[in-house]
Amino acid sequence: MPESKKEKCFCEKCKKLKNAEEFYQTNDLVKYPTGKLKQCK
Ligand SMILES: [Zn+2]
Repeated sequence: MPESKKEKCFCEKCKKLKNAEEFYQTNDLVKYPTGKLKQCK
């Protein structure tokens, strides 16, 4: 079964949901539990 990775994240800059791949990744999981920054690229 195909594994679709259509994860969405909320961008605080655009004020809307965007694809997770639009966001920079981070290793700071304390500050960013999702592993992604809160603003898109
Ligand atoms: Zn954005």
